[in-house]
Amino acid sequence: EVLLSVRGVRKIYPSAAGPVEAVRDLTFDVRRGELACIVGPSGAGKTTLLKIIAGLLEPTSGQVILEGEPVSGPPRTMAVVFQEYGRSLFPWLTVRGNVELPLKNARVPAAERARRIDEALEAVGLAHAHRRYPWQLSGGMQQRVAIARAVAYEPHILLMDEPFAAVDAQTRADLEDLVRDIWHRLGVTVLFVTHDIDESVYLGERVIILSSSPTVVQEDVHIDLPDE
Ligand code: ADP
Ligand code: ADP
Repeated sequence: EVLLSVRGVRKIYPSAAGPVEAVRDLTFDVRRGELACIVGPSGAGKTTLLKIIAGLLEPTSGQVILEGEPVSGPPRTMAVVFQEYGRSLFPWLTVRGNVELPLKNARVPAAERARRIDEALEAVGLAHAHRRYPWQLSGGMQQRVAIARAVAYEPHILLMDEPFAAVDAQTRADLEDLVRDIWHRLGVTVLFVTHDIDESVYLGERVIILSSSPTVVQEDVHIDLPDE
C-alpha cells in the first residue's frame, strides 16, 4: 500500500545567477511501514525535497500525495526531525515539556498525553531524564528528545533530515540503531534523508538516490549563508 507518492516534483529557485533547478522531475513511492533513505551529495536537492514533502515549500510543478490526499501545508499525520536539534527544542521546557507540547497543541487529553510521553521516552532510553532541560543534555541525548517528541505524536510518517550529521561517530551509530529499533517496534513509516551513503545503506530497506542536478548553476556561484 502506497503511503506517500512523489509525482514529477520539480523545484526551481530564482537566484541572482539565474534559475537554479534544485529538484528535477522526481517520482517515487513510499509504502506504508517502509524505512526508506534518500541519499545524495550536498546540493542534490534533499532539503528542498524534504520541505516540499513536509508541505513547507510549494513545488514548481508536480505533486506530493499523502494517504491519497495532495499535500498543501504541513500534514497532521507527519512529524519531522531536523538536523539542528539544539534549535528545535525549547530551552525553557523540560524534556517532558518538549515532548508534550505538540500533543497539547493537538489537544490530546492529559491522560493520553502522559501515556504517550512515558512510552516515547522509554523507547529512546530517556525515561530517567524527563525532568532535565535540553541544555543539561549532550547533543545525542537532545536528538533522542527530538525523536521522542516525533514518536509521541504518533505520526503515520516520520521524516528525518540528516538528523545525526552533528554528533560524533559512536553517538551516531547508537542513534541509527535507535531509529531501526523504533521503526521495527512501532511500525511507523520512516523517510530518512542523508548525504552519507554508508548511513543510507545501513539504515534503509530501500535507498532512493538523488544525483546532483545537471542544470544547477555552477557550484562556485553558491554562497553559503551563515547559519546564525
Ligand atoms: P541538499 O539538501 O541536497 O544539500 P538543497 O535542497 O539544500 O540540497 O539545495 C539544492 C540546490 O538548490 C542547491 O544548488 C542550492 O544552492 C539551491 N537552493 C536551495 N535553497 C535555495 C534558495 N532558497 N534559493 C536559491 N537556491 C537554493
Ligand atoms: P543543508 O545543509 O541542510 O543542505 P543548505 O546549506 O543547502 O542546507 O541551506 C541552508 C538554507 O539556506 C536553506 O534554508 C536553503 O533554502 C538556503 N539556501 C541554500 N542555498 C541557497 C542559495 N543559493 N540562495 C539562497 N538560499 C539558499
